[in-house]
Amino acid sequence: MAARFVFGDLMKIILASGNAHKAREIGEMVGCAVLTLKDVGFEGEIVEDGETFEENARIKVMALEKFVRGFSRWKGEVLLADDSGLEVDCLGGAPGVISARYAGLPSSDTANNAKLMEALKGVPGPKRTAQFRCVLAAKLVGGDMEIFEGICRGKIGFRARGANGFGYDPFFFPEGFCRTFAEIGAEEKNRVSHRALAMVKFREWLGQ
Ligand code: IMP
Repeated sequence: MAARFVFGDLMKIILASGNAHKAREIGEMVGCAVLTLKDVGFEGEIVEDGETFEENARIKVMALEKFVRGFSRWKGEVLLADDSGLEVDCLGGAPGVISARYAGLPSSDTANNAKLMEALKGVPGPKRTAQFRCVLAAKLVGGDMEIFEGICRGKIGFRARGANGFGYDPFFFPEGFCRTFAEIGAEEKNRVSHRALAMVKFREWLGQ
C-alpha cells in the first residue's frame, strides 16, 4: 500500500548506514536528500547480528527509529535501511550477509575481493554465476515496517575491471552486459542493480 503522506521538495530520507556510496546511489534514484547516521548525529554502533538481509535491515531501521524519537526535528522523515550483499552460487550463497566483512574486520573491499578471487580459483566462467541482493526496510516513526527486495543476477569475473562504484562492483558482470558494475557507471547501474529494483518498490510505496 502506498504511504499516506505527501512528499515534496522537502522530503528527506534518513538512511541507517554510514555507507556514503549507498546513500549517494539512493539519493540519485529518489532525487531527494539522503542523510546518513553521521548526518543526524547518531554515534552508536548497530550490531547487525541477523541471519538474513531482512533481519539486518529491520535491526538497522529499529535502531534508527529509537534514536530519532529523541529529536522532534527528525520525527517526520522517512527512515530507511539497506542491507545488501553478494551471493555466489557455487559458494553456497557466500559471502551473503557477511559481504561487508567477508575477509574479516575492519571491512576492506580490497581484502574481500582478494578472498573472493581465492575462493573462486579454478572455477570456470560458466560456473561463476552470482547475484546481488538488496533488502530495504522503511518506516515512519511509529508507523509500520515495510520490506522491499531486489535481486540482480550476473557473473563474477577473473580480474578487477573499472573504477566506478564500490565493494564487489569491479568483479560483477550484471546479466546482459559484458562490462562490470564498476565499468558501466552510475546511470546504468542505477537502472539495473539490486538496489535499483528494490528502490522501484520503495518509490511506489512513497507514492513517487
Ligand atoms: P551492508 O552495509 O552490511 O549491507 O554490507 C553491504 C556489503 O555488500 C558492501 O560492503 C559490499 O561489500 C557489498 N555490496 C552491497 N551492495 C553492493 C553494490 O551495489 N556493489 C558492490 N558491492 C555491494
